[in-house]
Amino acid sequence: FKSALGKTPRRPALKKTSHTQKDPVGVYCRIRPLGATDEECCIEMISSTTIQLHAPDGIKANRNGEYKETQYSFKKVFGIQTSQIELFEDVAKPLVDDLIHCKNGLLFTYGVTGSGKTFTMTGSPGEGGLLPRSLDMLFNSIGPLQAKRFVFRTDDKNGMEIQGQVDALLERQKRESNQQSTVPKTPSSKQKPDPEFADMISPEEACKCEGVDEDSCYSVFVSYIEIYNNYIYDLLEEAPIDPIRHKPPQSKILREDQNHNMYVSGCTEVEVKSTEEAFQVFWRGQKKRRIADTQLNRESSRSHSVFIVKLAQAPLDADGDHILQDKNQVTVSQLCLVDLAGSERTSRTKAEGSRLREAGNINQSLMTLRTCIEVLRENQMCGTNRMVPYRDSKVTHLFKNYFDGEGKVRMVVCVNPKADDYEETMLVMRFAELTQEVEVARPVDRPICSLAAGRRHRNQRPGGPNNAEDGSVLNQLLDSLPALPACELVDPTDEQILPRLIEVLERRHRIRQMITEQYTRTANTLKSMLQEFDGHLMAKENFIHEQRGKLGEKDKIMFNQKNEMDRLEKKSKMLEYKIDILQKTTNIYEGDKRSLQQELESREQRLQRELSERKRMEARMQGMVSDTKHQWEKECERRVNAKQLEMQNKLWVKDEKLKQLKAIVSESNSNKPQRASREKDQPRAPEKRSRSPLPVSCYTLSLPLFLHLSLCHPLPPSSSAGSLSVASVISEWEQRFPIGRDPPGTPGSYGRTTPYGSSSVGRRRGQRWAPETEAPGPSHTYGLDLDSRTPIRLHHRRSHSAGGERWVDHKPLSNLDLDTVMQPIIPNAIKVSAANEKALSKCHKYVLTHQELASDGEIQTKLIKGDVFRTRGGGQAVQFTDIETLRQECPTASSRKRRSSEDGPGQHDGNKMDWNDRENRVSCPSLIHLG
Ligand code: ADP
Ligand code: MG
Repeated sequence: FKSALGKTPRRPALKKTSHTQKDPVGVYCRIRPLGATDEECCIEMISSTTIQLHAPDGIKANRNGEYKETQYSFKKVFGIQTSQIELFEDVAKPLVDDLIHCKNGLLFTYGVTGSGKTFTMTGSPGEGGLLPRSLDMLFNSIGPLQAKRFVFRTDDKNGMEIQGQVDALLERQKRESNQQSTVPKTPSSKQKPDPEFADMISPEEACKCEGVDEDSCYSVFVSYIEIYNNYIYDLLEEAPIDPIRHKPPQSKILREDQNHNMYVSGCTEVEVKSTEEAFQVFWRGQKKRRIADTQLNRESSRSHSVFIVKLAQAPLDADGDHILQDKNQVTVSQLCLVDLAGSERTSRTKAEGSRLREAGNINQSLMTLRTCIEVLRENQMCGTNRMVPYRDSKVTHLFKNYFDGEGKVRMVVCVNPKADDYEETMLVMRFAELTQEVEVARPVDRPICSLAAGRRHRNQRPGGPNNAEDGSVLNQLLDSLPALPACELVDPTDEQILPRLIEVLERRHRIRQMITEQYTRTANTLKSMLQEFDGHLMAKENFIHEQRGKLGEKDKIMFNQKNEMDRLEKKSKMLEYKIDILQKTTNIYEGDKRSLQQELESREQRLQRELSERKRMEARMQGMVSDTKHQWEKECERRVNAKQLEMQNKLWVKDEKLKQLKAIVSESNSNKPQRASREKDQPRAPEKRSRSPLPVSCYTLSLPLFLHLSLCHPLPPSSSAGSLSVASVISEWEQRFPIGRDPPGTPGSYGRTTPYGSSSVGRRRGQRWAPETEAPGPSHTYGLDLDSRTPIRLHHRRSHSAGGERWVDHKPLSNLDLDTVMQPIIPNAIKVSAANEKALSKCHKYVLTHQELASDGEIQTKLIKGDVFRTRGGGQAVQFTDIETLRQECPTASSRKRRSSEDGPGQHDGNKMDWNDRENRVSCPSLIHLG
């Protein structure tokens, strides 16, 4: 026996020689009735093998009548009237026949969605399709010849194993107990309205295969897979139910077994013993498929479903009682019933996104199927050897063996005659036409072993082989038991009858003994057999007991593990909670860190700013220091120069003195009477002024107003301020109005040029102004000539009435308002801020309020007084006669100064003004010419 998908390794080279006969792929066409009677029909059935396609009116109009009517031929066409049983008889029955005779078969339905593929394959209650009918026929044929459950066992490599009755029994028990414990049968599951097999097929339609090998044992396995989006899913897999998370179904992979047959690895194969059971399993798969469709939002028409019926058979042993325990004698054949996805193009259904992608893949599968068919056809017709791209899709890869000649292939092309489907239907027809041209090698018929025929029936008598043997011996013995001679004994001394009787009886006794012996022997054998069986049974029982014990242990372990798992789960939850808390804490700390960092940064920035500010200040201070230093250097230089000049002047003045003395000595006697009369005219003028006009030598100071200082006459050495000299007056001027500075008369000049600036002059509490006591005495006269630069001669002194003197009060604008109690107030004075000829012409007296900084840093105000004269040239001249000094002093700092002044020769009154320092009384008549 050779298995079609079974144990013998496939040898393609050999196969070609052995499979010389080929059959074309059987393509059938089924036309479904129109959904609505008023719909346009585009298919016409011309004969039992041909149909004609009419282009619907709309398409004809679009293509300007270019459209041809096309005819397509099939092995057979089934019109709208065709019943399911008719179709089955023609299409599927031969395949089931083949299946039972160890040949493989592939049957698929092809067509657009709604064309009746599922109806053809599965059917509906009352109208069972090819699948339930095939199952029914199969079980009708092999029903009583089926092996006990689990005698045949599928391995995970697409192979089939066989095991003894006892092992099968044990496995059965084990499975049953497992099922009881794991799958409690809920009453609701029984109530589910699955279509019963009985609803699908009426009993009178039941059919049966003829010529089933009765000396074989059979077993049926079914599996149900779905190919969706080019992934294979097992529809019978009993995945553990997780009520919380719906795990997506795990896809399966295709493998090649050692005979190069393709199979779905790890696919569930359920052994079924009846049509009902098989159909229930199918329905279970259907349900799972529907759930997957709704849960994963899939389009059911886009998946291919494959129902695989696997039939295992093994011959009985020589006695026809047991299955031969030889793996190599097992034959496996299978029938695949495929409901393909709708063949329409994607655009027809308005699929989007992932749906579109899925649709693409499904179309891809069908495309690959088409390509494979095309290549096969080409190879067969043209003798080419192009590679068939089976591997490009799961569908073709799975059925590769069929096209390579491992079984019959049949296809039912389903069509919906409605006009809407016209274009798609045409494509289907073209494909169908192509497929018909492909030939598949015809599988070899299974040789029937005639030697074994009738074994099963022969063994229907009771008793085992030993019993039969013993029985026959006994029978023979019984047969050989001599019959008692028919005689009448009348004479006890009958010499004839008695010896014969004795002989017979002796023989019978011997035979009886033999029979007894035989009986005891047989009884003993039976006893020993029974004992043996008992032992066997005991052993089995022990084994079962042992297994139960192990099971209990495993249960305990599982219980413990479950507890442990619970514990760990709790722990993990606890840890998760802790992690959560820590995470939160970390977040808080991180927030703090961030804010602190920001603060740090801002502080650093501030620090930087302060540092740069400090640097800038330092640079500025250094600049100021160097400026001040420079100024002071200049000042020192200037002072040295001034001193030098003063010394030169002193020399010059001494010379001048000598000259004047000479002149005085020479002129004194002749000028005496003139001097007396002039004294009468000018009673207020000092004596020394009466000597004027004197020859005056002038020198020029570098003043902006070009001030001419002329010395009218030297001071007599006997004056109260005897120490005062021309030189000292000059030096005084120089000190007050340093070279290069504005004269006091220049408006605003003083405040601007003094190194101590007005801002440094502060007012202090307790400071007062006090006028110096005036003492009569000689004075310098400063002549101020406003119209001429020439050395002047005092020509005329303005006359004025006593008490009616008018003053020019010259206060430069730069003077500060010192807010003192003692203020020089001159009534009826003309106040000017700059020397001004007009004012001078109206007055006889002139006073200049001059402010300067004393050596102790206080401001002292000097009132420089003078008389106004008209010059000969018509200008005005001022002869300075007196200087009043007003000083402000701090009482705390005054004591030291006072002591120092007490040491000097100066007088002091002890009156209320005694806290004032006495300035040397200046009374030096001198002339300043303004011009
Ligand atoms: P498909 O599987 O190709 O998408 P179905 O088998 O689901 O199509 O058929 C669609 C509908 O048409 C179903 O309701 C089915 O009952 C009905 N149908 C299909 N073929 C026939 C037929 N030959 N006779 C009666 N009804 C049919
Ligand atoms: Mg369908």
